[in-house]
Amino acid sequence: MGKNILSIDIGGTKFSLALCAADGVILDRRSYPTNTAGGARWMVEEIYRIGSELIAGSSSPVVACGIGFGGPVDFYRQIINRSIHVHGWSELPLARLISERFQIPAILDNDANAAALGEVRFGAARGCSNIVYLTVSTGIGGGIIIGGDIYHGSRSYAGECGHITVLTDGAPQCSCGKRGCLEALCSGASIGARARAAAQASPESAARLLAMAGNRPENITAKLVFDMAGEGDEFASGLVKQVCSYLGLGVATFINLFDPEMVVIGGGVSKAGATLFEPLKQEIEKHVMPIHSGQLKCVKAALEDDSVLLGAVALANRLIERQRQT
Ligand SMILES: [Zn+2]
Repeated sequence: MGKNILSIDIGGTKFSLALCAADGVILDRRSYPTNTAGGARWMVEEIYRIGSELIAGSSSPVVACGIGFGGPVDFYRQIINRSIHVHGWSELPLARLISERFQIPAILDNDANAAALGEVRFGAARGCSNIVYLTVSTGIGGGIIIGGDIYHGSRSYAGECGHITVLTDGAPQCSCGKRGCLEALCSGASIGARARAAAQASPESAARLLAMAGNRPENITAKLVFDMAGEGDEFASGLVKQVCSYLGLGVATFINLFDPEMVVIGGGVSKAGATLFEPLKQEIEKHVMPIHSGQLKCVKAALEDDSVLLGAVALANRLIERQRQT
């Protein structure tokens, strides 16, 4: 009989629980909007309720739980540190609460770290030991895998790839409060904001983009920009080129620092596919040391919207392996 894992993905706008086989097959999944006003207390009760249902319905024993959390996690203490998305989470020992409730071992990590491990175990980087993972969506998160394991750093906050500085003069402000971070220039939210400002400043050049947005600049999103660039629109292609110049600088920095087997990019913006990756690869080439030239592997994540759930399965599997060894 196989063994199953309870997998949890907690985000600022929605959360998901899934019953998964240990080999990464999702057997049953439930997704709901996050009630931010309800805070941690509401979420924990929901996890208890939905988790109980999933465990009760499992045909194989559920042996562990993995949790990916969309906010800062103190991995060493297994607590949520402070969530910028969801209130009331500070110092919450979520893994211990879930472990006690369901009487199974549980492990918690930041969602991007979990997704990075998920790509190594089940996704685009299967078989790799050293990768850098970036998720480019509303914000930019990251995870660094060294020797097959997540690199957490001294206090558990390593891998914040979205907050390296790529622009100093006149740089836009980032969600972290600093200026010129990769996230402030290349996240889906910032691409949309810059595209709206550029379209309003040059309405003639942006005529097609504006028309596609129903002549309402506020309707211009990162997705629309990439869609239009994919169709050859000059204005949108210019915006994408600018995004890739900053993102390429960031990715090249990670390559020069970590010499990874590959860089995996997930998140909503990565769904643009070749429209993103082709110009991005050219920009990366400009900034990597010659020793990396022509060897770059920068690929789209394979797990897409399941990356955190499957990453949480990978976390739980690793926890079981560790416990077996000790
Ligand atoms: Zn930042």
